[in-house]
Amino acid sequence: MTLATDGLHHVTAIAGDPQANADFYLHSLGLRLVKTTVNFDVPTVYHLYYGDEHGRPGSLLTFFPFGEVEAGRRGHGQATTTAFSVPAESLGWWRRHLEHIGTDVSEVAEGDAEASLTFHDPDGLELRLVAHEQDDPREPWDNGTVPAEHAVRGLHSVTLCTADEAGTVATLEELGLRLVSQHGPTLRFAAGEGTPGTLVDVLVDPSASPGLVAGGTVHHVAFRAPDDATQQRWRDELLDRGEDVTEIRDRQYFRSIYFHERGGTLLEIATDAPGFTADEPLLELGRALKLPPWLEPTREQIEHGLPALSVPEDNNPGLREANA
Ligand code: ZN
Repeated sequence: MTLATDGLHHVTAIAGDPQANADFYLHSLGLRLVKTTVNFDVPTVYHLYYGDEHGRPGSLLTFFPFGEVEAGRRGHGQATTTAFSVPAESLGWWRRHLEHIGTDVSEVAEGDAEASLTFHDPDGLELRLVAHEQDDPREPWDNGTVPAEHAVRGLHSVTLCTADEAGTVATLEELGLRLVSQHGPTLRFAAGEGTPGTLVDVLVDPSASPGLVAGGTVHHVAFRAPDDATQQRWRDELLDRGEDVTEIRDRQYFRSIYFHERGGTLLEIATDAPGFTADEPLLELGRALKLPPWLEPTREQIEHGLPALSVPEDNNPGLREANA
């Protein structure tokens, strides 16, 4: 069995104020908060997961909102842009929506590149909405502020900036991705069918400064493993290839291993199961602070140390329908 991921599982980034972060991703981008928990390694900090209605792998952007945090710097050895897929005919709607809420937008459509909008979240994290040529069959989350017809379908791609082209390419090929196109200095890699959510753009820039992973930058990029047995086999395979891979860690909603691609970006391989309904029902996702069993004994202390976070009622489709 050779390692071959099905595509992106999630992207995790660092933010400042948790409320500003939640307000932006729920109201401005129209994602669903599918889990409110803490960083299991630093339980004084939230871990907020945004995605589609179910929090399916490939729809997820997650944050560690540290409150006060030093600003990071985009550069090599880092995922510098996180892109989401939207319907092609929706880019005009998105441009008006983002400008209406005071977000500066730049448009990219050079040569034969895809039409897209690039903008930044309140912490400066670079985001892109891409109108993919193929129809994206993934079901959108309809949250009310962003109508379902325009809503984000899930992740489209990430851009890895590297000063070590050969090293980054070698790692992506180890994960089973293959080169599918090139636009200028950007190489596009794809897993599986090459649909949105399976794409990695490698921006080769040996003159870029090294990135600083802090506020407003991506912490790591996770790829999908279908199940625990496959993840175990892939871990063995990566170790055989000389990669410095962590032990398997229980992240409650998936199991994870971590290693650095040779250009420097931290990568993860996360299992599809058990998913976000492991500890609360679908209709209630994200509303209450969930802790893994090993942190429950210190819940009172953890809750006391976290800033208040108000989750809007429209995060819950049951409530929204009841109020309609
Ligand atoms: Zn992760």
